[in-house]
Amino acid sequence: MSRYKEEQCRICRREGQKLFLKGTRCYTDKCAISRRNYAPGEHGQKKAKLSEYGIQLREKQKTKAFYGVRENQFRKYFEMAANKKGITGENLLQILESRLDNVVYRLGFGTSRPQARLLVNHGLFEVNGRKVSIPSYLVKAGDVIKVRELKKDKAIVKQNIEMNGSRPTPTWLEKNEKDLSGKVVRLAYREDVDIPVEEHLIVELYSK
Ligand code: SF4
Repeated sequence: MSRYKEEQCRICRREGQKLFLKGTRCYTDKCAISRRNYAPGEHGQKKAKLSEYGIQLREKQKTKAFYGVRENQFRKYFEMAANKKGITGENLLQILESRLDNVVYRLGFGTSRPQARLLVNHGLFEVNGRKVSIPSYLVKAGDVIKVRELKKDKAIVKQNIEMNGSRPTPTWLEKNEKDLSGKVVRLAYREDVDIPVEEHLIVELYSK
């Protein structure tokens, strides 16, 4: 996500919504959406009327930005979702929620998804006792995610837990702060996903 380092707030402004890409700053009045809630650029304040395709496209772009996923990977997730039993849009959200970087963020070990992604990349976590440094790793029910013993002195995770104190852990995860670990009790259901997304628009876009 380093490619988005300077661009994160612009992405939120483009989508007209807080996507919480910058950690604690997103909860303060320094948030660009609180100060300039219009699209970036010269014509940003002009509200263009979007076509049906434009609305669907924006919904997809917003969801990709929310989870920090590139187009190819997002398309792959969509195909996985379409091949699973159940409602494709809900399956897609469940897959996105199952990414290790998202789980690390949801457990409060990272202050934002981009930061959680970096922490995973830096090898801070293990899943079921084995080091996993791939942010796109998909967790399963029963998996235990833990800060690796070697990295436990890393103040950053403890600091993040303190900073994220007010952010509740979703019911599909169980956090053990003492142990710096978390368990996937079950995979996320649609009602667990708190992001403002209309997933049916993404399904319609890809089904054209
Ligand atoms: Fe920037 Fe966070 Fe506000 Fe988005 S929510 S505009 S990333 S501060």
